[in-house]
Amino acid sequence: MPCPHRIGIGNDIHRLEAGRKLILGGVRIPFGKGPLGHSDGDALAHAISDALLGAAGLGDIGRHFPDTSPKWRNASSLLFLRRVRQLLDRAGFVIVNLDSTLGLERPKVAPYIPRMQKKVARALGLRPEQVSVKAKSGEGLDAVGRGEAVRADAVALIEPR
Ligand code: MG
Repeated sequence: MPCPHRIGIGNDIHRLEAGRKLILGGVRIPFGKGPLGHSDGDALAHAISDALLGAAGLGDIGRHFPDTSPKWRNASSLLFLRRVRQLLDRAGFVIVNLDSTLGLERPKVAPYIPRMQKKVARALGLRPEQVSVKAKSGEGLDAVGRGEAVRADAVALIEPR
């Protein structure tokens, strides 16, 4: 019998600019810089959205939330997660679990991870234990390491309801 589970991958990167709010996984983190983006630039929520849409074969975040639409300007990316949940529900899928990694040189985001897990889980109708968030610095290398960007990678496992 074929395995009924489906896996999806997502990633996102945003340039960090002075004066923008830093919001990751729906959690505001005090810092002098934040992601440039049409929405709030929440790279973690975007990567998770793409992983879920990919797992369900429903395209990607650009298709469902075009950055040309004024509707999504400065939007909270938790709205994207709620909408993605509806799309998966309509397609007959439930989420098994998510895993993700944030890449950010500064600030240290580890203290905020439990709140990110809760926020993402609530938006998706999951338990926090189903949402894994990890973080690492860029070791001084590449755009993340130079403190110029925030990156997120995510994988999602879903199954038919
Ligand atoms: Mg993005």
